[in-house]
Amino acid sequence: MFIPTIPTPEEVLDKSFSRAKKAANKVRSSKIPRHQKSKKTEEARIKTACQVTEETFNSILEKIPKISTLNMFYQDYIDVVVGVDQFKKSLGALKWAVDLISKFENQYVFKIRRSSSEDASKVRKEAFGRLASVVYRIEDELNFLDFAKQKLRNMPTIDFKATTAVIAGFPNVGKSTLLRQLTTAEPKVADYPFTTTGIQIGHLEHKWTHFQFIDTPGLLDRPVQDMNEIELNAMVALEHLADIVFYIFDASETSGYPLESQLNLYNEIKHVFKTPIQCIFNKMDLVENIEHVNSYINQLESPLMLSASEGIGVTEIIAKMEEFDNEKKKRS
Ligand code: GDP
Repeated sequence: MFIPTIPTPEEVLDKSFSRAKKAANKVRSSKIPRHQKSKKTEEARIKTACQVTEETFNSILEKIPKISTLNMFYQDYIDVVVGVDQFKKSLGALKWAVDLISKFENQYVFKIRRSSSEDASKVRKEAFGRLASVVYRIEDELNFLDFAKQKLRNMPTIDFKATTAVIAGFPNVGKSTLLRQLTTAEPKVADYPFTTTGIQIGHLEHKWTHFQFIDTPGLLDRPVQDMNEIELNAMVALEHLADIVFYIFDASETSGYPLESQLNLYNEIKHVFKTPIQCIFNKMDLVENIEHVNSYINQLESPLMLSASEGIGVTEIIAKMEEFDNEKKKRS
């Protein structure tokens, strides 16, 4: 998510005060009657300093997208990574500062106009003091927004319109190999708060249709009872994204997981996901005991056969995706 650069209170005030100084110099060198000069100069300093601060904060507020308008997937993501409430609170604090500054800008301008020339600089100093204190009051919120900027920098970019397949299966069964085979460009790796290796997203334009494939290493590759609450929530979030789940079996069992455990995980995922699941038997080129594999294949509904590293069976998976997409279009 794009969050603009968040300045520190010192940076905000430096910019505001230095612009105020420039504005004051301009007034000082202009053709104003001498007796009015000091008041006009101080008025310009107050106005400029306050307005530059307001603009700085307003520009941040305008550039950050409204959380409530984001897709639920992103809302959940932001919530887990930085906390949506804290995020909204920080933006609220910026808004509070803008409103307050704009209010006392008017008050101090009025005060200057009514003060004597000798007092003008005292009034301006008082205004600057208040401005600084308001900006420092929101220091924690500015720090938090800067932290959120860093944390959300590599948030996954998801196309919510594309027909999306989420790839599941135990580690080393060939999920990322398949992902690479399915997609035209190298899949993009983005941060994902539930896994250490991130999320991989690949795209394929096929007959004017956009397909999206998502691999979440470390999430859909473990028995559900081993998951903590956050991971279970992540699974639910993935369910929002997935139109279909590709569950990958390693038919050769060379990844170290017996087909029996792979079937158990499949059943668990099937239980959690309400989306259709397509079973895919990978590493068929390494299978030694085909009867053993067949005994599992026969238990499942029209599984596909694959040798991802050899690129054999990939066309059939794309055809399945196309078929599924057509059905989806018919339904909507
Ligand atoms: P992931 O952890 O499920 O993403 O698995 P990877 O895609 O990283 O694959 C694990 C290993 O299996 C890699 O060394 C792949 O080259 C290998 N592999 C994947 N698919 C096949 C296949 O169909 N045949 C063979 N022989 N090796 C495969």
